[in-house]
Amino acid sequence: MPNMKPDKAPMPTQPPQERRHNFREVALGYSRETAMEEATRCLSCKHKPCVSGCPVHIEIPSFIREVREGDFEKAYEIITRTSSLPAVCGRVCPQENQCEARCVRGKTGDPVGIGRLERFVADTHNAGEGAEVKKPQSNGHKVAVIGSGPSGLTCAGDLAKRGYEVTVFEALHLAGGVLVYGIPEFRLPKSIVQREVETIKALGVKIETNMVIGRVLSIDELMDEQGFEAVFIGSGAGLPRFMNIKGENLCGVYSANEFLTRTNLMKAYREDAATPIMHAKKVAVVGGGNVAMDAARSALRLGAEEVTVIYRRSEEELPARAEEVAHAKEEGVVFRMLSNPVEILGDEKEFVTGIRIQKMELGEPDASGRRRPVPVEGSEFVAEADAVIMAIGTSPNPLLKATTKGLDTKPWGGIIADGNGQTSREGVFAGGDAVTGAATVILAMGEGKTAAAAIDEYIRSKEKK
Ligand code: FAD
Ligand code: SF4
Ligand code: SF4
Repeated sequence: MPNMKPDKAPMPTQPPQERRHNFREVALGYSRETAMEEATRCLSCKHKPCVSGCPVHIEIPSFIREVREGDFEKAYEIITRTSSLPAVCGRVCPQENQCEARCVRGKTGDPVGIGRLERFVADTHNAGEGAEVKKPQSNGHKVAVIGSGPSGLTCAGDLAKRGYEVTVFEALHLAGGVLVYGIPEFRLPKSIVQREVETIKALGVKIETNMVIGRVLSIDELMDEQGFEAVFIGSGAGLPRFMNIKGENLCGVYSANEFLTRTNLMKAYREDAATPIMHAKKVAVVGGGNVAMDAARSALRLGAEEVTVIYRRSEEELPARAEEVAHAKEEGVVFRMLSNPVEILGDEKEFVTGIRIQKMELGEPDASGRRRPVPVEGSEFVAEADAVIMAIGTSPNPLLKATTKGLDTKPWGGIIADGNGQTSREGVFAGGDAVTGAATVILAMGEGKTAAAAIDEYIRSKEKK
């Protein structure tokens, strides 16, 4: 008999008052007993609606059945048939909009905790010896991957499993993309990302860091001079957007990307870190997505006394994951909804002192279907701040477009690619945020996977000619 409890087994977490002062992981993970108990809530539905909600189509009922039976290694084997980053996705996937949104148990209560079970399985595997990863036999073909984020790593891993000799070129000094430079340690410990990167390396994938393609080497050189038969571009969307308001050039104004990179990648929160970062007391974060939540919660942990998220729509439209918003509130982040900055104010030394804010109200729906925020006349006021973090979106860096022959992009910078990742340039494929604009880890992985299959087909078809 399935367990018909309506509620998902709760996730143990560090208490809010403790965790707001440290960078250790907030969610602590299920125990073996809790995981097996939660697995009994799954009805093993024949039509598997949850699987169609997962962009990489993990065989969810099958892996949950193994958890229920206590065979966690078998569960891991099932998950990793289609996902190369389960410990990451189990933590950061927006499950509530994907697999769990389709779970039938969600109709009368909480859906099955699919993400939490996936995390448990991956962590249990990673804590043990694990089966040795076998390096597949080479098929003699070389493929280059640009960027080591989830799209690049997935594409590289899938190609390596098919026997390709894959080299990943990464601009930064560490592999992982946003998983290492963007998402903070307290949501995704970096040791977990490194472990997943090591598994991909064990398949034979070479990762060359500090290699900015378009500067050190171009895509044309990789293909014409270095013998790479195809290239996958997974370079993400790391170029921050600003509001273009007065005062954005003052000291103490950061893009969320810069602020999070200094904190995560360069460990600005550690006493021994050489990275300069302002330890501001009153921080205003502009935006309402996951990036804004991460910046706000990181600012708290760096010692800010007051952190305020300023968002121009209402709480209902907040794009961040509900769980992250709830965690931010528990930790003491203040939310100022229906508000929009119009100017950042500074002192004579050009340091931020405050932010002029205009109140908004919601008007008619816009092209995105959400109600458009409209300024309320005469509602401006000033709030004190000594740092302002802009988290209002990012776009792809134009460097690759500028340095690659025949690579077409959209006006906002996204690389144009078909459903298989094929770009306007023969042999060059692309996926992830570089194509879609800022999206999610699992969607980027799905595109890396699709492109790996298309690259395989492309190289095989050339071989036949
Ligand atoms: P990226 O992860 O951006 O990786 C691209 C890599 O390419 C980078 O390492 C970059 O250095 C490298 N690169 C760029 N240009 C070059 C070049 N010219 N040469 C060589 N290398 C290059 N998604 C979720 O699903 N859940 C979340 O909770 C979540 N939280 C987020 C929090 C933050 C702060 C941010 C910024 C994003 C978050 N996202 C989240 C979004 C998610 O991380 C991205 O959608 C995903 O990482 C995109 O993967 P990608 O492989 O396309 O690119
Ligand atoms: Fe759900 Fe994400 Fe896991 Fe797929 S990868 S099953 S969407 S948590
Ligand atoms: Fe289990 Fe929910 Fe998937 Fe049904 S929809 S198989 S209950 S996880």
